[in-house]
Amino acid sequence: MMTRISPSLSAESSSGDICCNACNSSVAPNTPGVHWKDKAVLVSRQVFGMPGWPESVHRDLVLREFMCPACGHLLDSEVALPEDPFLYDVVATE
Ligand SMILES: [Zn+2]
Repeated sequence: MMTRISPSLSAESSSGDICCNACNSSVAPNTPGVHWKDKAVLVSRQVFGMPGWPESVHRDLVLREFMCPACGHLLDSEVALPEDPFLYDVVATE
């Protein structure tokens, strides 16, 4: 059974994997201590100069985009300083 945990990810109960909703490939095992963001493809870009962001934005801020390793679908994104740890969402499915 698939439990949707975000618009882009589901938890597969039989395999215990976190799966991409676009292609159903496994992104990461759904195990304590493992986060799917560590298994996704990460593209990190400077926010300064992007359309929609003011000149006053902190020049070090980066946009992190986490993509499915199988199909490249965008799974999640976050804005952070380069040295910040990933922002982990923890979802309990039971
Ligand atoms: Zn995918």
